[in-house]
Amino acid sequence: MTSSRFHKAAVLTSPQEPTAKPTFSIQTLPRPVPGPNELLIRLTVTSLCGSDLGMALGHMGPVGAILGHEGVGHIAGIGSNVPSQDPTVQLGQRVGVAWTRDICGVCRFCVDLAHEGETRCAEALHSGKEAYPGTFAEYTVVPLRYLARIPAAFDGVPDEEIAPILCGGVTAYKAIKGCQVTPGQWVVVSGGGGGVGALAVSFARAMGYRVIAVDAGAAKEGFCRSQGAEHYVDVTSGEDPGKKVREFTDGQGAKAVIVTATAAAAYQQAFDMLGPFGTLMCVSILPEEARATFHPLWMIDNGWTVKGSSVGTRSDILEALEFVKRRVVIPKVQWAQLEEIEELMEKLSRGQLEGKYVMKL
Ligand SMILES: [Zn+2]
Ligand SMILES: [Zn+2]
Repeated sequence: MTSSRFHKAAVLTSPQEPTAKPTFSIQTLPRPVPGPNELLIRLTVTSLCGSDLGMALGHMGPVGAILGHEGVGHIAGIGSNVPSQDPTVQLGQRVGVAWTRDICGVCRFCVDLAHEGETRCAEALHSGKEAYPGTFAEYTVVPLRYLARIPAAFDGVPDEEIAPILCGGVTAYKAIKGCQVTPGQWVVVSGGGGGVGALAVSFARAMGYRVIAVDAGAAKEGFCRSQGAEHYVDVTSGEDPGKKVREFTDGQGAKAVIVTATAAAAYQQAFDMLGPFGTLMCVSILPEEARATFHPLWMIDNGWTVKGSSVGTRSDILEALEFVKRRVVIPKVQWAQLEEIEELMEKLSRGQLEGKYVMKL
């Protein structure tokens, strides 16, 4: 047990380099103190996201010592200015602590409401980067301006099913939504056995699409099918993945390929899977030097679109949670302890985690 002035956190101790093995130490640190416009959050759970690994390896620029951005908790302290700014904020209210911790509200992205530009705010502050430590800790602080409340309508959804939606789930949901494909059509999820990928398979199915999951290894097939995939393509089988997708879609190809696999080859192969007017949706983040190439005629002749999707707004989180509440998307959750984070990261780096790992705090 930690005393009231301290809290437990998992601290990244390895260098943020692509070749490093991420290591952590569990430490007792001074509890964060909320500023006048901030709230103190007592986190109850945090799940592990694939990008926590990317951050530990330095793929996303410099990071802080405490990672994590899929936390759920309760308001445990209120900054001095908060009651006058928003009297509805109360101690004990349930909130999510996700990737975006604060936005500026005035940059070219933020003011573009039609494109929901807040998710790409040029001045955004993120969990585990810049000013805000992440959720691999018992306590954290969040600014009132970007508070992600979990309304009472979701009281029946447990913390451990909300946490995976805060980054992985909403990222999957928003990426599918952004493809603007009519339900009933074929959608490919590349990396369908991974954290975001499995949620994308599940959401796509619940949203009415026919889903083909693509991943590496025969062992992932059962999991992908359990999440709602109608077909599975194993990229290690020796067969041409693009040809397999064409076979499954009666020669048409998919209306959208959502790439959640962290491999440049997955982006390259995605072009072979697209049908007429298809959309290639970029989701997974690759090391800086990674590239995929295309010939302009591929776009000109086929009417293809290449887009990217980045997490989702707080409204997207609530939309995604509705699917969980209705039980048409049920995140596959495995319990773990914060002390196990190093092992979990290692398994994640080998692609061996199935479903989302939720750590009790
Ligand atoms: Zn902004
Ligand atoms: Zn994430």
